[in-house]
Amino acid sequence: MRPLRALVALGTGCLDALFPPRCLACDGGAWDGPLEGLCRRCAETLPRVVRPCARCGREAGVHAAASPCPRCRDEPTDLDGVVAPLRYTGVARDLVLALKFGRRTPAARPLGALLADAVAAAGVPGDLVVPVPLSARRRRERGFDQADELARVVAARNGLERDARALARARHTAPQSGLSRARRGRNPRGAFRARRERVAGRCVLLVDDVVTTGATASSCARALRRAGALHVVLAAACRA
Ligand SMILES: [Zn+2]
Ligand SMILES: [Zn+2]
Repeated sequence: MRPLRALVALGTGCLDALFPPRCLACDGGAWDGPLEGLCRRCAETLPRVVRPCARCGREAGVHAAASPCPRCRDEPTDLDGVVAPLRYTGVARDLVLALKFGRRTPAARPLGALLADAVAAAGVPGDLVVPVPLSARRRRERGFDQADELARVVAARNGLERDARALARARHTAPQSGLSRARRGRNPRGAFRARRERVAGRCVLLVDDVVTTGATASSCARALRRAGALHVVLAAACRA
């Protein structure tokens, strides 16, 4: 270890001893759970999807083996599948909000770790990790990109290549949360472009924090496929 890094590690160690880091979800207990960043109680109450549908990522119970499940059978999508280990509620929602609006990038660690493990367990093809891009304007407003923070953890943990520039927004779109369901579906159409030299012939693992209707990710998948990607699976930390 280089002297400066050793000094930083020592300093961090002393700070942690004086001010033990608080749980990122509840701000209560210390990081004593099986997942970095969470207290044991929060780690144990994560709203996990137990038997997911491979197509939409929702809890499918007895239908898990025969995806598409009844809920997504008639949903149009350009994605080859969705991996989403958590439901967007409780501790999972607290972590996403901490990541997105609290600028607490450490929240990407437990979410990214869960997502990486779910991707590995699902056995989906993927050799290039690409975050769903924020618009340049929103990225400036927010100061960082929560999907890319998750993509970093997934790529590092599963030994995959990551490329945050493979996909870009073609224009600014209105925030999804302020729109009706029907308009959300229309909103992102044609809003992405992918770089052929980066994605042609690749199996893309598209990473986002929360999947709601899947319309944004589906639009990304179309752009990636037009640029020559072979396979596009969405890996989102939570399914709303
Ligand atoms: Zn907690
Ligand atoms: Zn389904």
